[in-house]
Amino acid sequence: MKIAVVGTGYVGLPTGVGLAELGNDVICIDKDENKINSLKAGKLTIFEYGLEELFNKNTANGKVKFTTSMQEAVQDADLVILAVGTPPNPITKEADMKYIYAAAEELAQYISGYTVIAVKSTVPVNTGDEVEKIVASQKPKGEFDVVSLPEFLREGFAVHDFFNPDRIIVGANTERAKNVIAKLYEPFAGKTKILYVHRRSSETIKYASNAFLAMKIQYINEMADFCEKAGADVYEVAQGMGLDSRIGNKFLNPGPGYGGFCFPKDTNAMAYMGRVKGVDLSLIEATIQGNDKRKINMAKRILETVDNIRNPHIAVLGAAFKGGTDDCRESPAMQIIQVLLEKGASITLYDPEAMGNAQKILGDKVSYASDMYAALPNADVLAILTEWEDFKSLDLAKVKQLMKTPKIVDLRNIINRDEARSLGFEIHALGVQ
Ligand code: NAD
Repeated sequence: MKIAVVGTGYVGLPTGVGLAELGNDVICIDKDENKINSLKAGKLTIFEYGLEELFNKNTANGKVKFTTSMQEAVQDADLVILAVGTPPNPITKEADMKYIYAAAEELAQYISGYTVIAVKSTVPVNTGDEVEKIVASQKPKGEFDVVSLPEFLREGFAVHDFFNPDRIIVGANTERAKNVIAKLYEPFAGKTKILYVHRRSSETIKYASNAFLAMKIQYINEMADFCEKAGADVYEVAQGMGLDSRIGNKFLNPGPGYGGFCFPKDTNAMAYMGRVKGVDLSLIEATIQGNDKRKINMAKRILETVDNIRNPHIAVLGAAFKGGTDDCRESPAMQIIQVLLEKGASITLYDPEAMGNAQKILGDKVSYASDMYAALPNADVLAILTEWEDFKSLDLAKVKQLMKTPKIVDLRNIINRDEARSLGFEIHALGVQ
């Protein structure tokens, strides 16, 4: 199948490369010339496990190509996948649809024959109808259908999730479009549940899923706070809860709050849609507020360990919103660091993959270390904010030698507390004693 993928970000790039690996002829288009020049030169623009190998293979054999020209990308395409950003409006927090609508208007001028336009970006319910209107208003040369094809990949596991999806949701209102998508997903038939639903249901499924997952995270975070006060252990509680198949054992890990490009913006966008439609979505509203407060509370916890020091120096390990990605968008680490800085702390930061993106947000407000041990000298406290594998293997004896005071606030619960305590560390973790 000839496929154009519009937008080569965290979703578009792994999707384009993955579809090429499945044998399709893919052209990825982005309006960001720097990204396209870099990709054309064989240099990846994001970090994702396993992406480099597939990228190298499929660029070398010509199955995936890159362009900034919409015409070149879509003129012969059977399928155009929209994977542009839908960032939150800074005031209302509704999904900003300008990139989707601009892309729809532009691509409409170049499609030919019969083309399926699939919206992979996370978009408000009714977007399919809007895209249909926009494309039709440009009087395209060919016939077309618009489908909803929401993306459920987890950043950091994008390649794994592309080839091993839990489920594939297709919102198609015509048989003709459905058949094209069935052909696209033929390699998954029999292995993965493919659910065909109405386009608006498909758009809703994406938001309903992300809001539910965010709520589950906020719930276990609240339980972690409760366990600390009640003398219980949140992992034992999570294990006991997770054995109930109605609850399930995933997403029951306490942390500093959910972040990333999706959960914050999607919960906010869903809450906005509820308000506009006059529907009480108070569970989602409470989740958003609780998660916002949590990050401030996490910064307070770090500061409490050094409240006898006027301008403490804090070593921070972790900038990405979770391990396995270089993405710092809405990262709890970034928000916690901002609060620490406002309270007068100085910070040395290290992250194995996200230093470039962290620097774009924090500039010269913090110092940057070349490795995890280089972040530690003179630190009054070490704060662990992202669950990178590297951090689990910290040599604690060496850490103690480098720090000014042996204090750790582990907001990812990855440090061996017994070992740390036996070495003389004061260590604070979440939901445990
Ligand atoms: P991103 O910001 O990383 O990438 C979007 C890309 O689209 C950018 O490179 C931008 O330059 C490009 N773009 C914007 N307008 C364009 C246009 N008119 N023509 C060509 N290119 C254009 O965003 P992302 O993280 O890949 O997310 C994309 C969508 O997928 C969002 O709606 C997001 O909510 C959704 N989503 C993201 C994830 C995730 O883990 N990041 C998971 C599931 C769904």
